[in-house]
Formats: sequence, C-alpha cells, structure tokens
Amino acid sequence: MKIIMLGAPGAGKGTQAKMLADKYAIPHISTGDIFRANIKNGTELGKKAKEYMDQGLLVPDELTCDLVVDRVKQEDCKNGYILDGFPRTIPQAECLDAALTEMGEKIDFAVNVEVPDENIVNRMSGRRACVACGATYHIVHIPTKVEGICDRCGKELILRDDDKPETVTKRLNVYHEQTQPLIEYYTKKGVLVEVDGTKDMNDVFNAIVEILGK
Ligand code: AMP
Repeated sequence: MKIIMLGAPGAGKGTQAKMLADKYAIPHISTGDIFRANIKNGTELGKKAKEYMDQGLLVPDELTCDLVVDRVKQEDCKNGYILDGFPRTIPQAECLDAALTEMGEKIDFAVNVEVPDENIVNRMSGRRACVACGATYHIVHIPTKVEGICDRCGKELILRDDDKPETVTKRLNVYHEQTQPLIEYYTKKGVLVEVDGTKDMNDVFNAIVEILGK
C-alpha cells in the first residue's frame, strides 16, 4: 500500500504515519527526518536545507524530488510505503507521479489529517523532539516518562527551531499557499481520504485504518 500523509504542520500526520508504518509493516519516509539527519551529519544537502527550514520555508523542489524518488525505488519499498511531508507542492506531486508512472505504480491513498489553524500553534509549542534519535513527543498529548528525556534513547528533548511560534505562523502560511492545493490534486485522482485530526491520536488512527483496511 502506497500512502501519502497530508495536513498542516503540527496536524499529527507524522505520529499517524509512524503508527501506520508499524501496522502495515512498510517504511515511513519523512522528508523532514531525512533533512534533519543530513543537518546532523553536516552534509552539503543538510547545509542547504537548514537555510530554508530555519526560516519556516520549504526546501526547493530540486533538492527534494530526486531524494524521494530514489528512496521509493529501494528494495524495502516494494510492498509500499508512507510518505510523510512529501509532496508539499504541486511540482513535487507531479514529479512523484511521473516516477511512479514510469515504474508502473500509483498512490493508493492520500490521507488528509484536518486540524484548524487555531489548534496548530498551541499544539506545536508543546512539541518536543529528541536531539539524538529524532523521536517526537508532546508535553500534554504524548508525554515522556521522565520530563525532557527521550523514552527511546535517554537523550535530551528540545523545542525545534521550526516549531517555535513565529516560525509556525510562517509555516502555516506556506502550507496554505503551497501545500493545500494538493488536496484538490489528490481529490481529482480519486485517492483522497479525510480524517478529523482534532480527535485523540488513537481515534484518528482507528478512523484511518477503518478507511484503508485492516
Ligand atoms: P516536517 O518535519 O515534515 O515538518 O519538515 C520540516 C521542514 O523540512 C519543513 O518546514 C521544510 O522546511 C522542510 N521540508 C520537509 N519536507 C519537505 C518537502 N517535501 N519539500 C520542501 N521542504 C520540506
């Protein structure tokens, strides 16, 4: 099953993507995670991506598309995958479609996790990420066992620069301008499904599984 997760930054699509990847035993491919890993490792891609990410802007399509197309061609993707945070623009969606058509494949579902803007800023200021392994938490909704410490690897948690309120507002504007048009794009392709992302994360998960199939 090939799934795309859509939704505003902070809608919880990353959390759902990880849960779905576990359930369906397919890779979770997050472009945000790939960029952050590159930043951490000090690669050329990481240096370029950081300039945009820190400002709440999208990394240019030409740095993003090939990365994902190469990834979905790997062996572990043959039974499907979940794309989280990609595509984020119409050109990215077109680039993915062109690559899939060439491979004789197609996207099965684009899941839009809907959350109104007013909920987003509050949610994101409570988000915490592990400096070491990238695991994400929320001080209210997904707390760690020990405050400020990653459950998975025991390292320190931080509020990412791109989750700070001023950056979040900018990211929401970018989302509405550049990413929201994808909802219509995937509706026209007949693969869009919508779920209410304001609910508890397990309810959201169950609603998605209900549609995608057990
Ligand atoms: P995320 O973890 O998905 O919220 O992504 C964090 C940041 O990485 C975004 O605000 C963008 O700057 C960048 N990014 C992630 N995915 C993409 C993408 N598909 N296209 C452009 N920029 C991206």
